[in-house]
Amino acid sequence: MIQVKGYAAQNATTPLAPYSFQRRDPNDHDVVIDIKYCGICHTDIHQVTNGWGGSTYPMVPGHEIAGIVSHVGSKVTRYKVGDKVGVGCFVDSCRKCDPCRRGLEQYCKEGMVTTYNGVERDGKTTTQGGYSNKIVVDENYVLHMPENIPLDHAAPLLCAGVTLYSPLVHWKAGLGKKVGIVGLGGLGHIGVKIAHALGSEVTVLSHSLAKQDDAKKLGADKFFATLDPETFDKLKGYFDLIINTVSSGIDLNAYLDLLTLDGAMILVGMPETEASVGPFLLAGARRTLAGSLIGGIKETQEMLDFCSKHNVACDIEIIPIQKVNDAYKRILKSDVRYRFVIDIKSL
Ligand code: NAP
Ligand code: ZN
Ligand code: ZN
Repeated sequence: MIQVKGYAAQNATTPLAPYSFQRRDPNDHDVVIDIKYCGICHTDIHQVTNGWGGSTYPMVPGHEIAGIVSHVGSKVTRYKVGDKVGVGCFVDSCRKCDPCRRGLEQYCKEGMVTTYNGVERDGKTTTQGGYSNKIVVDENYVLHMPENIPLDHAAPLLCAGVTLYSPLVHWKAGLGKKVGIVGLGGLGHIGVKIAHALGSEVTVLSHSLAKQDDAKKLGADKFFATLDPETFDKLKGYFDLIINTVSSGIDLNAYLDLLTLDGAMILVGMPETEASVGPFLLAGARRTLAGSLIGGIKETQEMLDFCSKHNVACDIEIIPIQKVNDAYKRILKSDVRYRFVIDIKSL
C-alpha cells in the first residue's frame, strides 16, 4: 500500500484536519500521480457538511487534481513518468453501458465512481480525493494537462471548466447567441471566459454590482445585479441560453422569464433545496429547463485542449492547506476571486 498524507473531514461539523491514509499499490493499468495542486469546488463544501445527504467519513475532498506522474503500471500506454496530468470528478465507471461507451461516463448507468465520497468498483474501498499528496488512478480516467497553462491555473478546469464547457457546447453557445451566466463564482467565472471564447455575447447576472469590473475583464459584455428588481424587467425575453451556477436556492421562474422563444436554462448549481417551476413560463415561449453534470473523459480532454488553444485559464487564489477551513468560510460568503487552489506542497 502507498502511504498518503492529506486533510480530511471526520464528520459534518468539525473543521478539516490532517489525516494519513493508504492508497492501493498501482496495478498494470494504473498511474501514480504526485499531486501538486487541488482546486476547492463548492461541491466539496456541500459534501463535507453533508448538505446533500449520503456523505461518509473520514472524507478527503478534492476533485480538481493536477500533478505529475511518478509511476506507471506495466500496461499503461498513454502516460509516462514526468507527464503533467489531471484527475477530475470521477475515477472509474462500468465502461460497458451506453453512456460509458459514448464517453459520457458521468451518466454511467451503474453510477460513476466519484473521486471522493464514493466506493470503488470492488464495492469495498472508499475513494479519497485531492486534498492529499498522491493518488492512484486507472489511466483511462486521467487527463493530459495543457503545456501552456500553469498547473495551478489549470487545476479548476477539471471540474469547473468542464461543467460549463459541456452545456455551453451541447446547447450551442457561439456567434450570435446571447448567453447569461448566473453567479460569478468558480464555475461562473470560467463560464464567462469559455462562452466568450466560443464567440457568444456574455451577460453576467450577479447578486450585487461588486464584481462588475472583474466580469468585464473576464470577457463579459454586460453585467446586471439581480438584487435590483429592474434587472428582471430590462432583460425579459433576452437570452438564448442561461447557465445557472448558483449554489443556493433561487427563484427559477424569475430567470425563466428572461429566456427568448425556444431559449434554455441549464442548471449546474446544485443547491441543497428543491425548487418549483411554473409550467406557464415554460410553455409560454417553448422554453427548456435542463440540468447538466460535469463532462465525460473525452469531453474533458477536448475542453482542456480548447482552453490551451484559446489561452483560457482560471483566476485563482493559491492557499496553503492549513487555510482550507477559512477558504470554505469565504466561499460561503461569495468572497472568492475566483477559485481557491491548494498548494499541496504545504502538506
Ligand atoms: P461558488 O464559487 O461558491 O460560486 C457560486 C456563486 O453563486 C457565488 O459566487 C454567488 O455569485 C452565487 N450565489 C451564491 N449564493 C447565492 C444566493 N443566495 N443568491 C444569489 N447568488 C448566490 O461555487 P462553485 O464552485 O462555482 O459551484 C456552484 C454550484 O455548482 C455548487 O452548488 C456546486 O455544488 C455546483 N456544481 C455542480 C457541478 C455539476 O456538474 N453540475 C459541478 C461543479 C459544481 P455572485 O456573487 O455573482 O452572486
Ligand atoms: Zn466540482
Ligand atoms: Zn457505465
